Amino acid sequence: MTDHRSKEKAPAARLERREFIRKAAAGSVAAAAGVAASTFPKPSLSQGLMKWRMQTTWPKNFPGLGTGANALADFIGKASDGRLTVDVFGGGEIVPPFETMDAVSGGTLEMGHGAPYYWKGKVSASQFIAAVPFGLNVAEQNAWVQFGGGQELADKVYKEMGCKFFVSGNTGVQMGGWFNKEIGSLEDYKGLKMRIPGLGGEVVKAAGGNVVNLPGGEIPPALSSGAIDATEWVGPYNDLAFGLYKSAKFYYYPGWHEPATLLDNFINLKAWEGLSSDLQAIITAANGYCNMLVLSEFNANNNASLNTLVNEHKVVLKKFPDEVLNGLGALAGKVIGDLAAADPLSREVMASISTFRKQAIAYAKVSEQAYYNARGLPFKWVEL
Ligand code: CA
Repeated sequence: MTDHRSKEKAPAARLERREFIRKAAAGSVAAAAGVAASTFPKPSLSQGLMKWRMQTTWPKNFPGLGTGANALADFIGKASDGRLTVDVFGGGEIVPPFETMDAVSGGTLEMGHGAPYYWKGKVSASQFIAAVPFGLNVAEQNAWVQFGGGQELADKVYKEMGCKFFVSGNTGVQMGGWFNKEIGSLEDYKGLKMRIPGLGGEVVKAAGGNVVNLPGGEIPPALSSGAIDATEWVGPYNDLAFGLYKSAKFYYYPGWHEPATLLDNFINLKAWEGLSSDLQAIITAANGYCNMLVLSEFNANNNASLNTLVNEHKVVLKKFPDEVLNGLGALAGKVIGDLAAADPLSREVMASISTFRKQAIAYAKVSEQAYYNARGLPFKWVEL
């Protein structure tokens, strides 16, 4: 780790200290006040600064995802008054996007930013933490992480990859994806080559789809070249930014496969454990801030982006027929159950989510779901 507290690793700190001494000797405020040199407070740089590197799986500065990672780094630098600064690199700048976890596990990087299902090939249980088809919405998922045992389970999963886990953003419910043919029945998934990650991909595979996963930056060329027939990415705000409307006509909803996808900030476990408790608290707070910030950015921009897609780019907005959703739901129950049963840690994570989902569904009936229905009634409301 690049801990600049060690003298031999801190040329910048030495330089800064020499500069400080030079300025003091030349008559800085402290020197002018007659304070003896030996009583000068040590400049902060000599007290140890750390410079970390974080790579995202997203393109650099990508709306919501990339800007969330930037905000995380910015918060940590400012809240620590520069004691810990984090340089952000986009996917592929240091290692390929999907090798970010290896780079953090191995200590090449201290931090990464992505989504848990990208690591399912390493620890299968990680995909359940990202999002579960027909599972929790964003408020329920945050509640599960903070009060339902989710944080502890995710830490257990990420420990197997040598990392500390934080939720670091959420997309909220995603869109169902981009297609060049209509989806009228489950049969329409047969042979369909679709980019769809995580458990949603497992469900589409079970429906007969030919599933691939690609990092975000590789989706637009794959769709435009015909290497894939269909894709999902996130929602209108992000999908507009990638120009996916140029290569597909039908835009389906709802995103049954990703009802709320949390983003992960993963930190090399030794680097994390080596931090002082105040820096650990700052990183914890920074991720809490980013979790809400990213969701708000999506919520604030999705509807205007959807209007642009439909009105300017003539995208055809379609709802999956209930028959398709019911079929996908039944497949999801089977596929997710089988995957969870095949691995003890996956079973532990999924059992916890499943228990939480039961009470969430029961309460949603008298809260959010009932309220959405009430708000949608045809009364005349305030118009200014
Ligand atoms: Ca997605």
